[in-house]
Amino acid sequence: MRRRPDHIKGLRFLEVAPGVSLFSPERPSFPLGTGLLVMDDVTVVVDTGAGEALAELARAVHVDLVLNTHFHPDHTRGNRYFDAKVACHRLDAPPLRDLKSFKEYTGFDEVEAEAGVDVPAMVDFRTSRVDLELEDGEVLDFGRTKCRVIHTPGHSPGHVALHFLEADFLFLADIDLTSFGPWYGHRCCDVDAFLESMNRVLEVPARALATGHRGALCERERLVAYRDEIYRRDELLLDMIRERPRDPATLAQEEEPFYPAHPFPVLTRYFERVMVEKHLGRLVRLGLAREEDGVFYAS
Ligand SMILES: [Zn+2]
Repeated sequence: MRRRPDHIKGLRFLEVAPGVSLFSPERPSFPLGTGLLVMDDVTVVVDTGAGEALAELARAVHVDLVLNTHFHPDHTRGNRYFDAKVACHRLDAPPLRDLKSFKEYTGFDEVEAEAGVDVPAMVDFRTSRVDLELEDGEVLDFGRTKCRVIHTPGHSPGHVALHFLEADFLFLADIDLTSFGPWYGHRCCDVDAFLESMNRVLEVPARALATGHRGALCERERLVAYRDEIYRRDELLLDMIRERPRDPATLAQEEEPFYPAHPFPVLTRYFERVMVEKHLGRLVRLGLAREEDGVFYAS
């Protein structure tokens, strides 16, 4: 088994299993992300959103495979540093490969039309080649390290979690267990699928958990609380439309139910509106609300 470099400027490492290290930026802040380095017969980097420090990692270690848990730029932006094959789930390959799909998946074409903001440039979106398209249940063999792909859609259509089998370690990517999530603010997101994915990963009896935005191991109880946040939002939005039936855009603007006074207004307001729309749609499917001419009423 190859050895991890002792020090990469700008990165912190935490060994989570033999040969598997979580890496995160020394000064973590959005939109930087956390990833994994697997040093085995095959050397693998999982997610490349940890900033320019990854260029030094690419110089220090020959990486054979970059594995992206999903297409978001804070997980894929640094693919360009590595002379390696790139893998992601087949449903997230199109928006990683080209800008047009990226705009369609995210809904940023709409933001551009409405607000004249070039969001892909703003979030430093970079296209990437994709050589391998992953499927649910596939077991990737890196040598001693074996890793099962768990398709966990919702946050994006092709989002995956990774279960490292020998180490019994689960990497949850953007089932991120932060106070910003659960997040489903792009056109391609699906709140019901997110919930199902949460239930799916809760059934994996992993010894240790980590996510794409926290540079430390996470506690399992946090996963339950994070899942239950979706139920809390059901109640919150139901109360709001019970008090005054509204269309999603008005409700989002008046109440800011998810991200009050957030420091990135253009994007956050868009995400909030999309999340309100998706969540109200969920309440209708549950029979808890009904929609007439775009206005949502509590049933
Ligand atoms: Zn994401």
